[in-house]
Amino acid sequence: MAVPKRRTSKARKRQRRTHFKLQVPGMTECPDCGEMKLSHRVCKNCGSYKGETVKENN
Ligand SMILES: [Zn+2]
Repeated sequence: MAVPKRRTSKARKRQRRTHFKLQVPGMTECPDCGEMKLSHRVCKNCGSYKGETVKENN
């Protein structure tokens, strides 16, 4: 079995982890208001979908 020759340094480890982001998969930014929303769903904040405003003011 292949074994790493050298211990991964703190800097290398941290560089690798810069790409780890705290974000739920399937979340995208709303093009209308910029809030995070679930993809393929109407935006909770402004109530828009695919450029159209689907007004749901509860
Ligand atoms: Zn929105």
